[in-house]
Amino acid sequence: MGLLVVGEPLNWEDTKKHAEYVREHGLIQLIHIYNQYKDRCCDTLKWGDEVEYMICRKDEAGNKIQLVLKGEDLFEELDAEQQDELWRPEYASYMLEGTPGQPYGGTLNDLLKVERSMLRRRKQVEAKLEENECLVAYSTFPRLGCEKFTFPEFVIENPETDNPFTHSEFFPERAINRHPRFPTLSQNIRHRRGRKVEINIPLMIDENTTRPFRTEGLKTKDSQTAQMDDHIYMDAMGFGMGNSCLQVTFQASSICEAKHLYDQLIPMTPIMLAISAASPIFRGLLADVDTRWSVISASVDCRTDEEKGSVPLKNDKYVIPKSRYASVSSYLMNENQKYNDMKLVINPEAEKKLLDAGMDPVLATHFAHLFIRDPVTLWGNKIELDDEKESDHFENIQSTNWQTLRFKPPPPNSPIGWRVEFRPMEVQFTEFENAAHSIFIVLLTRVILSYHLNLTVPISKVEENMKRAEHRDAVLKQKFYFRTNPDEETPKIHELSCDEVINGGRGFFGLIPYMKKYLDDSGTDIKTRCKILCYLDFVSLRASGKLKTTANWMRNFVTTHPDYKKDSVVSDKITFDLTVLADDIVQGRHHDPTLLPRREDCF
Ligand code: ADP
Ligand code: MG
Ligand code: MG
Ligand code: MG
Ligand code: MG
Repeated sequence: MGLLVVGEPLNWEDTKKHAEYVREHGLIQLIHIYNQYKDRCCDTLKWGDEVEYMICRKDEAGNKIQLVLKGEDLFEELDAEQQDELWRPEYASYMLEGTPGQPYGGTLNDLLKVERSMLRRRKQVEAKLEENECLVAYSTFPRLGCEKFTFPEFVIENPETDNPFTHSEFFPERAINRHPRFPTLSQNIRHRRGRKVEINIPLMIDENTTRPFRTEGLKTKDSQTAQMDDHIYMDAMGFGMGNSCLQVTFQASSICEAKHLYDQLIPMTPIMLAISAASPIFRGLLADVDTRWSVISASVDCRTDEEKGSVPLKNDKYVIPKSRYASVSSYLMNENQKYNDMKLVINPEAEKKLLDAGMDPVLATHFAHLFIRDPVTLWGNKIELDDEKESDHFENIQSTNWQTLRFKPPPPNSPIGWRVEFRPMEVQFTEFENAAHSIFIVLLTRVILSYHLNLTVPISKVEENMKRAEHRDAVLKQKFYFRTNPDEETPKIHELSCDEVINGGRGFFGLIPYMKKYLDDSGTDIKTRCKILCYLDFVSLRASGKLKTTANWMRNFVTTHPDYKKDSVVSDKITFDLTVLADDIVQGRHHDPTLLPRREDCF
């Protein structure tokens, strides 16, 4: 929202000078919104998804896939045509984000609109692609950051002069969206933290992997110091913000329902991250994790050494345990305060202002937590605003707190209500899978409301679950703290597998059984019910391990590929074959029963 203001983005030094001003006015804007809308009531369910895609291209020799740097051009064309789907540019020039033209409504029939909308989106873009190009919903492009992974190609000889904004050894700046917001954001994060970002992800060690594994030929001292043995080292925001994901936003009937659903979805964030895991490869190397989460978290981690606690506080105000891209740290309902057992760093002046303005204390604490951050981009011509009509400064802080859930107040003077955004999921290759995950989340909110389910567990347990969710094959091998008696006052918390959470077990009824009950109770017609069950059955099969996660399927494709040398390396040729196969599956030219159910079985 409010992304494409034209003008000059300020550098870090100037942004920093205005940081206090932005926070001060951001709070005034938030208070206006709060006072205007806190009693707003009875909005109906409206919701929508966001899917991010990458534009891929087969090279002439037919053995390499490159990411095509034309997302901005495609966006402009699509936007100008005012199609019935909505498009947004994204961080990387090879990306596009699509959302439904209108949010879906609150009926069960609306659930069936999702996949159709996603398919229309795909068609709209595909109609504009060249013969040798395709649109792939890779969570992480396997060769991102490898030599000549973009089209046009760029060779980085001197990271500092070739990539003045990021100093990256691997990610050419021409792959960053050319709108000035994006390179400046990258540079400001680097300047704020004092050096370029450092990302180290454990490598999957195989029989022939060189040990200790180190990236050869690093050109800068910073990189040489930052890289860790037996890790995949990355050094740019693009390694995280250049990944794709699936997000779902829904409107609640009131501020109270929004807080309630936000809280109830917190325990679901690690579960859905594990089930949707789709990122086993980074920078051409097999990783020992299955998700993008810690990569993207580190890729925008703007904390200084003082804030990280590695040197004593002197110039900065807070020691901050997590990146601004991270899991949420607190529940919003009064009754769930007993589960807020993690230390929450807050901006005390912000909290005081919000309390003085009459905001409920728990919500005041939530926003005071977001307001520990500095703005990292700012437009020189958009500093003085009408705080009653605009909310840019609030949105500036809010929208650069990239957390697993986002509590979205209504925009000022708009018909839109209080919303919650569910953000942890990895994107899948097919529209069917992405629709299924979106539908699952929205139905879950209906079930929670209808049966008064309470899924909350101490938030430190959710934090532990987030760590487990990233592990290789978390769906098969990890257990997650989960509440098995959501219909009782005193929680019984056990460690459950994803299968048990989704399908039931160990005394827990299971989320999909609740959803099936909901479909029965709501008297859906048979045809709609059947179609919805098709999506739910898919989620059920993924959770039980009867179908592979996308990450497991990709990893298996690589390790069984004839060219794989058991050295952890995912070559251009392997990536080519993987991409072609993924596109064949998306286009319906190929079916893999280990990844997807047969559609004919349910329609
Ligand atoms: P952001 O990138 O800030 O999360 P987007 O505009 O890209 O926001 O996506 C917002 C999502 O919210 C879309 O899926 C859209 O369909 C959905 N949406 C739009 N209006 C409403 C509304 N009134 N209630 C709920 N969801 C909405
Ligand atoms: Mg966004
Ligand atoms: Mg968006
Ligand atoms: Mg996006
Ligand atoms: Mg979003």
